[in-house]
Amino acid sequence: MSKKDYYDVLGVGKDASVEDIKKAYRKMAIKYHPDKNPDNKNAEEMFKEAAEAYEVLSNQDKRSRYDQFGHEGMRGSGMGGSHMSMDDIFSHFGDIFGGAFGGSGFGGGQSSRRRVNRGSNLRVKVKLSLSDVAHGVEKKIKLNKYKGCDSCNGSGSEKGSSPTTCPTCHGQGQVSRITNTFLGQMQTASTCPQCGGSGEQITNKCKECHGNGIVKGEEVVTINIPAGVADGMQLSVGGKGNAGARGGVPGDLIVLIEEKEDSELVRDGNNVLYDLYVNFADAALGTTSEIPTIDSKARIKIAPGTQGGKVLRLKGKGIPDVNGYGKGDLLVNVNIWTPRDLTKEEAKMMEKLRDSKNFKPSPTSKDKSYFDRMREFFS
Ligand SMILES: [Zn+2]
Ligand SMILES: [Zn+2]
Repeated sequence: MSKKDYYDVLGVGKDASVEDIKKAYRKMAIKYHPDKNPDNKNAEEMFKEAAEAYEVLSNQDKRSRYDQFGHEGMRGSGMGGSHMSMDDIFSHFGDIFGGAFGGSGFGGGQSSRRRVNRGSNLRVKVKLSLSDVAHGVEKKIKLNKYKGCDSCNGSGSEKGSSPTTCPTCHGQGQVSRITNTFLGQMQTASTCPQCGGSGEQITNKCKECHGNGIVKGEEVVTINIPAGVADGMQLSVGGKGNAGARGGVPGDLIVLIEEKEDSELVRDGNNVLYDLYVNFADAALGTTSEIPTIDSKARIKIAPGTQGGKVLRLKGKGIPDVNGYGKGDLLVNVNIWTPRDLTKEEAKMMEKLRDSKNFKPSPTSKDKSYFDRMREFFS
């Protein structure tokens, strides 16, 4: 998309004087100012375009380059960029409207320069069981935090009194300074050191909060934790952190997930693993075994002739994916338990079996060993 001509943007002719350009920009800046057009993307776009056009056409040097080369001439010069920030744009206003951020009928612009206090974020840890993780859970957490002061409604001023305008910045929240640079005079603005940017001064401080507008207190917050979260994940709950001073915006509550270790099951991604031990006779003859699942128990069949290291898969008995992509499985690793102690009689029976033809190991490709499976996994 090609850029609009700067003269068209401001609605002036190619031979417009500096005064004409100033006048045209002033009109547009007032018309499309974001304070007058809240949530209007179109107005914001016009506002920025006008600022960019003004940035170039108000400067003799840039203007002649633009006249000669068009938008190409502006490239790489760090000038007239569409990357002008709102701060850059507002810094024009001293120039355009006169005086320190020109008071003349431009109240809206001033308040937007004031800094809003933001409360700090709060961090809490939440311990979850495997079942919590599998189903998602609602947790009620008691927080010790800064809350808005009820006595003064968060304003910081004692009831019946109101803050006065900060004498240093005259309510602007900023102090500006004119500096001389090679581009000409530039106006720079910084946060007012006296009021910290609020533009106000509290003369009669609230006794409860000492003028801060916030007090320590307790709050119970309900957090909905989705299924599938994992140890180390952080959830951010907007606006549930510490309240901001003097009516500012609250910070966020950051919830750090910790998983409690399960006594029987081990989590591996969205799968859960269980080590089952069956005795040698059960493995040879076949049996059913009871195994724990996330919420209860299940019975599984061990086929006759099951080898140690066999993995049985219970589909969908794992943990749901946190992004909703299906569900993991419960994997049962079958271990054959070899007796450590034998009675004389048992030993005698074993002796009889030792040389039996069926007891001679003869693995087939079906009975892949642990090593085989690892090799497959890594190849
Ligand atoms: Zn108070
Ligand atoms: Zn101030």
